[in-house]
Amino acid sequence: MLDPGHNGRNSSNPGVINKPVPDGRGGSKACNTTGTATNAGYSEHAFTWDVAVRVREALTARGVKVVMTREDDNGVGPCVDERAKIGNRASADAVVSIHADGSNSASARGFHIIYSAPPLNAAQREPSTKLAGALRDTLRAKGFPVSNYIGSNGLHGRPDIAGMNHTTRPAVMVECGNMRHPEDAAQLSSAAGRAKYASAITDGLLRYLG
Ligand SMILES: [Zn+2]
Repeated sequence: MLDPGHNGRNSSNPGVINKPVPDGRGGSKACNTTGTATNAGYSEHAFTWDVAVRVREALTARGVKVVMTREDDNGVGPCVDERAKIGNRASADAVVSIHADGSNSASARGFHIIYSAPPLNAAQREPSTKLAGALRDTLRAKGFPVSNYIGSNGLHGRPDIAGMNHTTRPAVMVECGNMRHPEDAAQLSSAAGRAKYASAITDGLLRYLG
């Protein structure tokens, strides 16, 4: 399953996306957020959609069945808990949620891969960390730098990402880069850069799926 983060109409529907949903650890979280953007105004939701479509095309051509959490970039949501449940219902062999970060720290750059920690079920243990490692390796092989501001060696286990908490399948969230950093933004907002991200994610998934 591919989960392109956010959605094109989230920003004009605050009543929907601000609604609290269960965060998977006994608390609550907003249904969704608008996502971030580059300083030049290229949006995260457009980025995640573009990359997901590229990955879907590449995987489909290799005979992999792909499920998406949204079918265009002109809608609202779905909520983060529902996104996880779509993968659970599909019994997805692997779930990749695609995002880009928005750190205002001037020097912050690079990608990192998030997984649920501490794990809440067996799928969140070795299968998810193995998927995270595969994607980290293929992103690095394409020349993308690991994050210099969050996580360790491109990996970051954390308890507060509802979509990762709710999953019962091997699942990770890829933060492809920092949209506020000029070099990352150049990659994130160019078609060539997005093709390279998509190629790396496709390679990582194929490596993981064996
Ligand atoms: Zn995001």
